[in-house]
Amino acid sequence: MKDDITALSIKALTEAFDKREVSSVEATKACLARIKNSDLNNYITVCESEALSCAEKADESRKNGEGGPLTGVPIAVKDNISTEGVLTTCASKFLQNYVPPFDATVVEKLKKAGAVIIGKTNLDEFAMGSTNENSAFGAVKNVKDKSRVPGGSSGGSANAVASFEAYAALGSDTGGSIRQPASYCGVVGLKPTYSAVSRYGLVAFASSLDQIGPLARTTDDALTVLKAIVGRDSLDTTSANAPALPAALDGNIKGKTIGVAEQFLTGADKAVAAQFDKAIAAAEKLGARIKKVSISSFDAALAVYYVISSAEAASNLSRYDGVKYGMRADKFSDIADLYTKSRTAYFGSEVKRRIMIGNYVLSSGYYDAYYLKASKVRTVIMREFDAALSGCDGILCPTAPTVAPKIGAQTTPAETYLSDVYTVPVNIAGLPAVSVPFGEADGLPVGVQVIGKAFDEGGILNIAKALEVSAKGGAAC
Ligand code: GLN
Repeated sequence: MKDDITALSIKALTEAFDKREVSSVEATKACLARIKNSDLNNYITVCESEALSCAEKADESRKNGEGGPLTGVPIAVKDNISTEGVLTTCASKFLQNYVPPFDATVVEKLKKAGAVIIGKTNLDEFAMGSTNENSAFGAVKNVKDKSRVPGGSSGGSANAVASFEAYAALGSDTGGSIRQPASYCGVVGLKPTYSAVSRYGLVAFASSLDQIGPLARTTDDALTVLKAIVGRDSLDTTSANAPALPAALDGNIKGKTIGVAEQFLTGADKAVAAQFDKAIAAAEKLGARIKKVSISSFDAALAVYYVISSAEAASNLSRYDGVKYGMRADKFSDIADLYTKSRTAYFGSEVKRRIMIGNYVLSSGYYDAYYLKASKVRTVIMREFDAALSGCDGILCPTAPTVAPKIGAQTTPAETYLSDVYTVPVNIAGLPAVSVPFGEADGLPVGVQVIGKAFDEGGILNIAKALEVSAKGGAAC
């Protein structure tokens, strides 16, 4: 048992804690050893001594009969989520020396739940990207095939969970950054409803789209982590109190109606589409009714996303000017020169591209043609999802059109942007969605996505659990 403790689910690990078969210190040491021997580049910072002292405390609490479902569980945190006293780089040269003086609300909540924060995971710079190749700290290698990317932007988080370097991880999802890497790495990734989880302390990319959520090995574990981080927070005025989450998932989808939108059926690779067809068949076999729905504005979603997210990014990233945060250019003549030289030296090229697109679509001559128009189409997309979801319990679609591509294979930004085609509409609509592994295509993991009504995380996780059990060859009850 102790040899492969890093491969356990959170549920199995905490049961082993309770039976005294393994301690949190042992589990933490086992993860740290894996990280040390790894060449995957999942972590930017490893919190070795803090993690071990936290694990000792967790073991003490459990001995005293205290502690909850996360007490003593090693969890990784994406490096764009603030951690008090621990480097938070956003995988940017700009923040290579930035140590926040406070914890993000989600980190504070994880600590209160007794989780062991084991380290900060690699990502695309400021969460802009779909492959993790935009990191100033180097690419991450997919554990299933080291010549391939883990996806992005939460690539380090998804790959850390898949490679047993953490039991679960937090990621952030602005247009797919939790779900798409989950799909590429073969783990579960949940983007909660916009506002369900506090964004306080998440370094902002596009504030009307960003959400923090869990990456985990099972749907049950994703629910456990979600429960620890949800809820209204006075430090994030957009956050809300969601209805209570279910105590457990039964994976029973008998009599449920699952929507399939015809617009989501084109564009996926053959092998991925074949897996998706199998997922629909599995849902039907488990007693769900499949219903055709329509999101006719689907085609516009990617363009809307890149206009709105870049506009918000341009505004959010104006704070990195060499004065307030992070790095500063060595030599400059005046304040304008300081801004220019610092931003030129320390932002990577994808971040610069987004800032330029964002300022362009917001500029006085183009505001109406781009930003305003995108905002109007956003409302249409929201309404179409609401209408489609009013007649079903969840919409099923592929998470990404392909399996994980090779490192270096995508040569144009547009090619990379296309890998978000199935995930970005969900952020635009503010809805929850989960990616669950469903078999393989070409020997690599494939994820299917379940999109739900606002605050129905429990419902979509339950559908995902049914598919998870079926994919593992078992029968859901
Ligand atoms: N890949 C998308 C982008 O680059 C989504 C990123 C994200 O969700 N953070 O914008």
